[in-house]
Amino acid sequence: MEPLSRNPASPIPVTVIPGDGVGPEVVRSARRIIDAAGVAISWEECPAGAEVFRRGDPSGVPAETRSSVERTRVVLKGPLETPVGFGEKSANVTLRKLFETYANVRPARELPGVPTRYAGEGIDFIVVRENLEDLYAGIEHMETPDVAQTLKLITRTGTRKIVRYAFELARQEGRRKVTCATKANIMKLSDGLFKRVFEEIAPQYPEIESEHLIIDNVAHQMVKNPAQFDVIVTANLYGDIISDLASGLVGGLGFASSGNYGDDVAIFEAVHGSAPKYAGRDVINPTALILSSVLMLRHLGLAEAADRVENAVLVTLEEGRHATRDLLSQAGGDVSTATSTTAYTDAIIANLGRVPATVPPRVTARREQGAGATPVAVAVGPVAAGAAGGPTGGPAKDAAGAVVRTLVGVDIFIETALTAEELGRDVAPLAGDSFFLEMVDSRGTKLYPSTGLRAESVGWYRCRFVAQGSRVTDAEIRSLLGNIATRHNWTHVEKLQLFDGQPGFTKAQGQ
Ligand code: NAD
Repeated sequence: MEPLSRNPASPIPVTVIPGDGVGPEVVRSARRIIDAAGVAISWEECPAGAEVFRRGDPSGVPAETRSSVERTRVVLKGPLETPVGFGEKSANVTLRKLFETYANVRPARELPGVPTRYAGEGIDFIVVRENLEDLYAGIEHMETPDVAQTLKLITRTGTRKIVRYAFELARQEGRRKVTCATKANIMKLSDGLFKRVFEEIAPQYPEIESEHLIIDNVAHQMVKNPAQFDVIVTANLYGDIISDLASGLVGGLGFASSGNYGDDVAIFEAVHGSAPKYAGRDVINPTALILSSVLMLRHLGLAEAADRVENAVLVTLEEGRHATRDLLSQAGGDVSTATSTTAYTDAIIANLGRVPATVPPRVTARREQGAGATPVAVAVGPVAAGAAGGPTGGPAKDAAGAVVRTLVGVDIFIETALTAEELGRDVAPLAGDSFFLEMVDSRGTKLYPSTGLRAESVGWYRCRFVAQGSRVTDAEIRSLLGNIATRHNWTHVEKLQLFDGQPGFTKAQGQ
């Protein structure tokens, strides 16, 4: 994002959303510490979440909150609950989507005094998760009463932004390596595009090592040798899972911070949820939200204040005298002796100005200090002259669509009680003069013409019709659909296109 322009002498406006469950307690803790650190912030307290759903606003994010965020462009947010029976969408996801915070950044760093299996190994990496697309685009359909489908959407635009963000973050933090994590070996088009965009952008950062690992191997390596990672960039769902795994490596949800960055707005929140069973009991660990507010201070260009707060947290943890309930139960201690949220916050405030003795103090001179008000400023636009690439990452083309498209067929998905063999024999004569039925598959396995492969019927098949000649037209597809509809319930249609001669579709298993 672009640096925020503001007058350093006047208080910085920040929208604060206390949130649900334990939210108000952790937000109060972070606010008290920031205020005690002498940072002049004018907090605009705004509602979102359960209370708003119950009032009848199905978005969970009311207009007053939206306009505050538009004004301040920075949000410190407690967790938001999505009460069952109110609204359909999570207010968290709505906030991220409304303000297009495309980069979810989750650091995982070893903390002193927090016992883990990896203590002493020096874990210090960041997961950069794409935050808007992939399976979280929320585009889902029931194709039949028994077949559900979610669209996994990976775009060149979205991938470029997140990959560039990851490399810029690595550069500004002086980090040495960016790992791209996908399942491109299986999802050759969607994750394949993510990987290829990564490989196009990586050479622009020659001082940073780049590598691609399959996401399952990342999970394995993360447990085996987590200190090898530096920055990991990945798609939305993979990022969700591995960043929670990363939290577990360094002490759990009570310590996991995050920032959601967009071109205009940044939202800082703990990774954890509203933990309703602990609400109002003054026992919750506020460290995750405090460390999220440290990310916010860095984003605001207040690196010194960020260091002061972070070092006070490190000193407090290092001292070990103020263990919250979660920390004690992880360490097998007596939870009845746990420090309350309030007392833990008081201890951090008392430690402001001190630096830790057992780990290096946080000094952010390598990057944020100085001119920029934001950790990462990502210039979005063409990656580089000639690097835009075709849909399968092929030859360079401009964004206006200079890629040559050829329509060569159509996949029609049909709900039926017939077998694949029966369906194939039934629809083949409906293909007319323009198409021929190339195959029928079930869940991606070709069953007609028979290959000898067997598959249990789920009552839903794909029929692939391809052009008799070199191409077909939309009108011919409409006519084919009309023919099919006279005998069958079709539920879904996908065009088969070539882009510069390269297929923009995959083959079925056994095809
Ligand atoms: P949760 O993170 O609220 O709690 C799971 C468990 O983790 C808790 O019971 C507690 O044992 C532990 N825990 C979490 N935060 C802790 C902390 N700060 N200190 C100590 N222990 C902590 O997850 P959940 O129970 O699955 O979700 C509860 C609600 O929160 C749901 O409505 C969910 O939708 C929502 N949620 C919101 C966010 C968000 O706002 N970003 C994220 C996750 C879940």
